[in-house]
Amino acid sequence: MIPQHHYVSCVGCGTRVHAYDLETFSCPNRDCMPNVNHVLQKKHVITQQIWQRSKLEDSKNPFIRYRHRLLGYHRTINSNHSDIDYIEKVSRLDGVLQAIDGTGFTETPLTVEPELADAIGFDPMQKLFVKNETHNVAGSHKARHLFGILLNLSDDALHRPFAIASCGNAALAAAVVSKAAGAKLEVFIPTDAEESVVERLKALGATLHICERREGELGDPCYLRSLEAVKNGAVPFTCQGPDNGLTIEGGETLAYELFDQWRENNQACHHMFVQVGGGALASSSAQALAEVMRHEPLPTLPRFHTVQTRGAFPLARAYDRIVKVIDARLKGQEIPSFTPYEDDLAVGVRAAAHDVSAIEQRLIMADCIRSAWDSTAVQSAVRYAAANKPLFMWPWESAPHSIAHGILDDETYDWYAIICTMFRTGGIPLVADEDHLKAAHDLAHSHTDITPSATGSAGLAGLMLMKEANAIADYENACIYFTGIER
Ligand SMILES: [Zn+2]
Repeated sequence: MIPQHHYVSCVGCGTRVHAYDLETFSCPNRDCMPNVNHVLQKKHVITQQIWQRSKLEDSKNPFIRYRHRLLGYHRTINSNHSDIDYIEKVSRLDGVLQAIDGTGFTETPLTVEPELADAIGFDPMQKLFVKNETHNVAGSHKARHLFGILLNLSDDALHRPFAIASCGNAALAAAVVSKAAGAKLEVFIPTDAEESVVERLKALGATLHICERREGELGDPCYLRSLEAVKNGAVPFTCQGPDNGLTIEGGETLAYELFDQWRENNQACHHMFVQVGGGALASSSAQALAEVMRHEPLPTLPRFHTVQTRGAFPLARAYDRIVKVIDARLKGQEIPSFTPYEDDLAVGVRAAAHDVSAIEQRLIMADCIRSAWDSTAVQSAVRYAAANKPLFMWPWESAPHSIAHGILDDETYDWYAIICTMFRTGGIPLVADEDHLKAAHDLAHSHTDITPSATGSAGLAGLMLMKEANAIADYENACIYFTGIER
């Protein structure tokens, strides 16, 4: 039976798109309402009944095991295909992925890492969970997002070119997944893209476009050229939510696995740390957490923390500003007046406001917001943020640098869902300096068998900051993601 109540709607302007409209990837109001935060989100795909069906699955392939939770599955069923047709399609594509990349989709490991926990000062009874995505398809979680998009596409779309702006893990994943589907991929890369990545993309048959910065043009030239390709008919095959809202659901499978792994082992987790660049990984995890709490609540709701670098932290900046609005609303004061596209603090001052010494105070405020989440004050503040994006989220002004270069996106595209989840769970945005990022990377390699890149181990740097601030009690467990294998 096909659920009739499915729809897709924009978190910013509320516009609804029919769930079985296969041609709309981004909000149709993006151009006419530029101040609003437009991101399409699937709604009510999962009912309690549908949720229960996933519990009966024993497949290790997340796109089969959790298929009932995926819009891509319901779209397949809606276009006169059977459950078996869907499973056959996923299995066939998975076989091709294995032939191309040496690996297909399967549940990725969740390990408890006592040596690493000890190295960062955890008590022997405390658990540090690591969800290891470094051996997933194309070496990171990115392929999950893109395979999720693929399953949503019409047969017609498969004959159009796919477009992505990336020169890292997302591009590699896009190249592997599109090759498996027999689709043509256009990759928009900067002039300084890493040679090894360029060679691999070429070997996978992608068409590369090297994008130079144009005089007087604002924003990332690769991204701008990819948007032009989409305007000319390409499918936005990207991990950026505003350009393709369907990118989120494939990523949700990572967190669904994680929650089931905790449950199977009767484990509680009190703190999750997710590294944030463009924000798709964190947004997917946040939305999966919301679904799991709706249908089958975890015994302990983990605090959902995010980790960015001092090089660029647009998410933490947006969080700070929304907290100011919430604080004013809770006190019955006027909303502070912000200048759009401009921070009222110098970047160094803003970064210092995220020092270890500030963490305790931030958690007190986070607890206050968590307990007032349902109040009119907090709800009106977050709605205000969604309707006035340029006051909260705008591209980072300077060219950022960090050892964790994969999370230097100048904008956190899917910021709103992530910040709301931090508010709901009492999490905070952490801003890691280079010393912590480097130490986290070294510790990951010396105290586990996993070999993530510095980007892939950045979540650990956030955990280390929290530990230094004495913000993790000695009975609390924590979880991080290692994703993005060292190349
Ligand atoms: Zn919209």
